[in-house]
Amino acid sequence: DARLQAISNAIRVVPHFPKQGIMFQDITTLLLDHKAFKNTVDIFVDRYKDMDISVVAGVEARGFMFGPTIALAIGAKFVPLRKPKKLPGEVIAEAYELEYRSDCLEMHVGAVEAGERAIVIDDLVATGGTLSAAISLLERVGAEVVECACVIGLREVKGQRRLNGKPLYILVEPR
Ligand code: IMP
Repeated sequence: DARLQAISNAIRVVPHFPKQGIMFQDITTLLLDHKAFKNTVDIFVDRYKDMDISVVAGVEARGFMFGPTIALAIGAKFVPLRKPKKLPGEVIAEAYELEYRSDCLEMHVGAVEAGERAIVIDDLVATGGTLSAAISLLERVGAEVVECACVIGLREVKGQRRLNGKPLYILVEPR
């Protein structure tokens, strides 16, 4: 797919952000490139439009930059999965381990019903810990997670991702 190279080119790599040694993949430059941004959304929409998906769950914060547009285009609801203490209603929470700390995602009770078919979207997958927490939240309320979708998949950790056996769809892998 010729569009993927342009999408990859539109993602800026910022060395040593947020700390020494990290090559930060910055999708804000992809959002500035209308054609590449639209192609990114279009590829996801084409993939999910006929899969009977009723929930697009987006991971804070960069999953919010792609998820709602995809949800509108495929006729699904958008459900934000947020960092602790951001959602005002009753929530369920799922903690997960990162490299040097732990974090937590929350989802509003009642946002997703048992039996709904969901996809989870984020900008980037590394270990898969974040996506696994998102999957758990959806499964705890009885939804079926059909797939996880990310713009970027970090290659170093390929094969070591923890996604509870769910398929992962990624557009680009940085070299
Ligand atoms: P994982 O849980 O190890 O798969 O890490 C994925 C999470 O970390 C996602 O929510 C990403 O937004 C964030 N993340 C890690 N590295 C980067 C990066 O280089 N750019 C943007 N986000 C990143």
